[in-house]
Amino acid sequence: MNQCGGNLLELFKKAGCGNIILTSLFLIIVVFFPSFSPAAEKTGVTDIRYWSYSGYTRVVIDLSDEAVFTNNRLAFPDRLYFDIKNSSIRKELQKNISVGNGMLKSVRAGQHDKNTVRVVLDLEKITDFKVFTLAKPSRIIVDIFGLKTFSVKKTIVIDPGHGGKDPGAIGPGRLYEKDIVLDVALKLKKILSKDPNIEIFLTREKDVFIPLPKRTAIANGRNADLFVSIHANASRRKKLKGIETYFLNWTDNEEAQKVAARENAISLKQMKRLKKKMDIKDIILSDLSREYKRNESMALANYVQKSMVKGLERNYKNVVDLGVKWSYFYVLFGADMPSTLLEISFVSNPLEGRRLAKDKYRADLAKSIATGIKKYLSSMPEGQMLASTVKTIGP
Ligand SMILES: [Zn+2]
Repeated sequence: MNQCGGNLLELFKKAGCGNIILTSLFLIIVVFFPSFSPAAEKTGVTDIRYWSYSGYTRVVIDLSDEAVFTNNRLAFPDRLYFDIKNSSIRKELQKNISVGNGMLKSVRAGQHDKNTVRVVLDLEKITDFKVFTLAKPSRIIVDIFGLKTFSVKKTIVIDPGHGGKDPGAIGPGRLYEKDIVLDVALKLKKILSKDPNIEIFLTREKDVFIPLPKRTAIANGRNADLFVSIHANASRRKKLKGIETYFLNWTDNEEAQKVAARENAISLKQMKRLKKKMDIKDIILSDLSREYKRNESMALANYVQKSMVKGLERNYKNVVDLGVKWSYFYVLFGADMPSTLLEISFVSNPLEGRRLAKDKYRADLAKSIATGIKKYLSSMPEGQMLASTVKTIGP
């Protein structure tokens, strides 16, 4: 993997850029949850980071607060620019960072006028791009896609939730979600690695913190065929127990919203505010409009959910099947492949908490998740896989 990260303080040198003939493509005005920001208070552009992989680059523009921005693509030379309204940028960030990875030539940021920060992405050869926003902290995320290489091997990225400073849900006896899900993920990796047709990567193999947008970036960067995020559930209602599997979609269901709010580390109120903005979000959430991906994610979720329940029922009593659900999980956002999020049991439930603390239960979970993933892969007609690969290869 050719991975490098950087911000505007790190400078690289790179010359030359292919001009692509493009007509002016589109203009979107995004209202990025403006709340009560008084006119005098400017939003700060606090950092610009990028993660670069073969065929894919993710740029993150960090903001101190919610902001309104416009976004446009221009030709001669091919570039994307973002005008962030009522904002300011520190001097040190007003530099030109050379990326030069074949997709993105460079990123430039500056105070365009008194009230506007302009960030320009100078493009090289790209096939597609996506823009979306995340809150708390406020970020504008730009995904840039280049040509991808096709592999017969299926690549699976497993994402053990949380880690490092973020423990996730905490159960009795200092039972941390981050430790449970890492152990299940490592066990799952061991099982799936035995299959010569599967290449498997973990977003983390240790107790380290990884920001949510970096997790899908790793999967996109690996050109993964599947992305599976593993979590453990928690509820104030200690009686609540069971296994559920999610895929990314909007929902009116309050319980599903609560689960996503907890995993997104935002409040339920903030989740509901996102819903109000959904009309606007629909325009930019090309993720959700990609029907095939939603259908595939739903199929994947179904296979894994069924397999977990069946696998556990063989060895345990009172296994509760909470089914396949959907909600708005940041960690699935921007995944360029079928993706799912598992809630493997409740740390807050006395029975399931005790089970999660046991190595055997975690091994049984890993085994049944592996079976579910393999069933999904074998159910997938090769043509369908090809179609989903081809769609990112542009004209
Ligand atoms: Zn979690």
